Amino acid sequence: MPYFLGIDIGTTSTKAIAITPDGQQLAIARAAYPTLSPQSVYQEQEPQALLQAVISVLKEVTKQTEARPEAISLSCAMHSLIVLDPSGQPLTNAILWSDRRSARQASQLRASGEGTALYEATGTPIHPMSPLCKLRWLQEEAPTLFQQAARFVSIKEYILLQLCQVHAVDYSIASATGLMDIQTLKWHAPALAYAGIREDQLSPLVSPTHLLALKSKALPDNLQNVPVAAGANDGCLANLGALALSPEEWVLTIGTSGAIRRTSQASIVEPEAQIFNYRLDERYLVSGGATNNGGIAFEWLGKLLGQERLSEAAAKKIPAGSEGLLFLPYLLGERAPIWDASATGAFLGLRLNHSPAHLHRAVLEGVAFSLYHIAESMPAKPVQLIANGGFTHSPLWVQIIADVFGIPVRVDEQEEASARGAAFVAMKAVGAIEDYEALLPLRKFSRQYQPDLEKHRLYLDDFEAYKDVYRSRATR
Ligand code: ADP
Repeated sequence: MPYFLGIDIGTTSTKAIAITPDGQQLAIARAAYPTLSPQSVYQEQEPQALLQAVISVLKEVTKQTEARPEAISLSCAMHSLIVLDPSGQPLTNAILWSDRRSARQASQLRASGEGTALYEATGTPIHPMSPLCKLRWLQEEAPTLFQQAARFVSIKEYILLQLCQVHAVDYSIASATGLMDIQTLKWHAPALAYAGIREDQLSPLVSPTHLLALKSKALPDNLQNVPVAAGANDGCLANLGALALSPEEWVLTIGTSGAIRRTSQASIVEPEAQIFNYRLDERYLVSGGATNNGGIAFEWLGKLLGQERLSEAAAKKIPAGSEGLLFLPYLLGERAPIWDASATGAFLGLRLNHSPAHLHRAVLEGVAFSLYHIAESMPAKPVQLIANGGFTHSPLWVQIIADVFGIPVRVDEQEEASARGAAFVAMKAVGAIEDYEALLPLRKFSRQYQPDLEKHRLYLDDFEAYKDVYRSRATR
């Protein structure tokens, strides 16, 4: 049976899914790799380990399907940076989005007018995650290495170079570097000047549907010359994989962290909240914000109290608002919309009658408030939400999201939305579909949650208290 292969190079593992033209999943494979932290704020991965994972899932899926794919495309985590020497050999590990070595450069740039102008042109928040700030760090803190660098690439570009022997970067990955103008789709000269690099040190920009071909001795003969579409970044492809292409229908994800994202043809420029605007392709932009504190806050509570003391049924019995208990989820500082690395978590309003179930419910509500806070800082509003990520295993949590936002939430039945989105790009690149809208009949939702408008009104009051508490603590 003909199939398309979407490969998602994530932060903990690479996943590949094979799907047929009518959306059926034929096979799935996964290969994990470690994240290295040679210094406390460093977060790195070995380029070779990332490459081996892609090769391994490619071989595994073609073994399961016993056929070669019609086409492949790649999804990849955003914001990575690898320094290459003139022969294309890495001089560094892949420096990940979560690496914080450039915190000083980011905070100086953010406080300046130049930072605001760069955010507006490139769509990427000014933050240590951004390759823009990482490059400035290299220039200032590792000048010898910086001088030796022939090229600066992302993980995806490194993989494409190894497997297709071509230097190319899709608009979507490039739009998350802080170095590309999201309107003209060209490298942004003022950003390159700030980073201290030349355009010939970056890859040529290509469309996500730009076709390359597999050409690598590391791959078996039956995979040689299979078409490879350049693909896009994992955040944008998570929206495409959910086929959330209308500006009214936003995607809300809670995994370890969390995000809320809108797909449309217009950007949302909010210098205060630094709403991101990343390119899915020439037509679509994905705008939104990410929180550091998603499922990890629930995991933290489970470890603290003992997992056996947390029961969804008990938390469900607690009234909305957790009987006066409010949780600020900033256990890992926070990104959007407050951009405060020093923010801390808190339980407020504790009373003798509060039980583990109250704490459980308050944590779910606090994370919901943090995502609502991002949405509130965007001028557009969603009419409904598509939910995905590990939190969808908790019907209570999804219901709380519906009640806090006051709009219906549908749970995406498909897992691995980014890999699926990549497979859709492969379909478009070889002309199997004219446009992504042709795939809309394939959408499947497992559950739908309606908001309780009375609880919504109550939550709006609690949300005001949530913001007041953060503001008063931040100015202390
Ligand atoms: P990632 O892809 O970021 O590693 P996942 O999408 O697998 O994360 O989601 C993991 C998160 O899902 C966990 O941090 C956990 O909080 C949440 N989760 C999973 N199952 C449940 C559940 N039954 N109740 C509440 N949260 C859950």
